[in-house]
Amino acid sequence: MVETAMSLPSSPFLLLFAGILGLIFGSFANALISRVPTKESLWTRSRCNQCRVQIASKDNIPVISYLLLHGKCRNCHEKISLQYPVVEIFSSLLFISPFLIFTRWEPILFWLIFSTLGIPLVVIDLRLHRLPDRLTVTLFASSLLVSIGCGIIGKQSGRILYAIIGAFSLALFYFIIALISKGGMGMGDVKLALSIGLGSGFFSAHLVIVATFVAFGLGSAIGLFLMATGKANRKTAIPFGPFMIVGQLISLLLLPGQYY
Ligand SMILES: [Zn+2]
Repeated sequence: MVETAMSLPSSPFLLLFAGILGLIFGSFANALISRVPTKESLWTRSRCNQCRVQIASKDNIPVISYLLLHGKCRNCHEKISLQYPVVEIFSSLLFISPFLIFTRWEPILFWLIFSTLGIPLVVIDLRLHRLPDRLTVTLFASSLLVSIGCGIIGKQSGRILYAIIGAFSLALFYFIIALISKGGMGMGDVKLALSIGLGSGFFSAHLVIVATFVAFGLGSAIGLFLMATGKANRKTAIPFGPFMIVGQLISLLLLPGQYY
């Protein structure tokens, strides 16, 4: 393989480092999940949801503290949601996997930003049926930064233009669906489409189409399943953000074996 600025040095230490970083980001994702919808500051210490006592640093170690405390608050003994360790472990796996799948930095960086901001977007959309601007705008800004950075460092500046074309074409597509569906698809989905278009358009138009087909395919399959099992009817709003994020990650999986 030809070594370039964007090739990846692989080592077990890198995987270990990625795993630990994933746990830390998972802990941050939990803070985003509980604080972004209520517009709380992200930079204050965490508190117990029940007794509001500040959580000590030793009780705030991802996964380990949950296990040591047997899933209960040290102060009030109220149960701590299983969401906390599950998000942390899932985030850690999402951080390790791209280093096993890809051999270049471009798809790894896109994978990582869609994972870190994707987890809180998915959980918040499932719970509250909304995609907060604070997260969709941050995701767009980070995707744009990664597109420009990778385009310049990897000496493939043409890709920056493809990414921007992908972003606006996909957002326009979702905007039209939002208009036609009259509330079925929200403006949060349109804003998220900007980032998906950037992250897949950077590589090829083919990937933008795959990301979109996977999102709609999964969305329809799950919608039909929920209707068949009586958990939803034609009027039930099913959040679409999670399918868009999963579609984006799956489209990146097409890259290994090609140029990447
Ligand atoms: Zn408590």
